[in-house]
Amino acid sequence: MTHAAALTANQAAKATGPLMRGLRGRCPACGEGRMFRKFLKVADECPHCGEELHHHRADDFPAYLDIVIVGHILVPILVAVETECAPPLWLSMTMWPAIALVATLALLQPIKGAVVALQWFIGMHGFEQSKGRRALATAAAATG
Ligand SMILES: [Zn+2]
Repeated sequence: MTHAAALTANQAAKATGPLMRGLRGRCPACGEGRMFRKFLKVADECPHCGEELHHHRADDFPAYLDIVIVGHILVPILVAVETECAPPLWLSMTMWPAIALVATLALLQPIKGAVVALQWFIGMHGFEQSKGRRALATAAAATG
């Protein structure tokens, strides 16, 4: 393993905590405050620790990931059920769209939370200052 690959693996391990907090809809910094003030509206700042979250630029990426994930899960199941069981047409025409709608809506907020948490962790867009403060705090803690 090269040095660069080791750094990347180390960074990935450090990103797990913020990503999991984002998946749960919690602040990537503290894990206590709610990230969303509405279904997909990210709060300007964490109500618990005050971490600024308004810098995110998730845009359409969570919806894109949602479609990819649900599609890759649902389409093989759909093909298997339709070829093996051949349910009546009315059932197929109501069941699959309903399952797709529920699955995409259920995953959209967790995916957006993870995307915002990833942007926060990497220091993208306006999160650079927050990342710099975290690096300084880590360095200060390491030096004592
Ligand atoms: Zn917080």
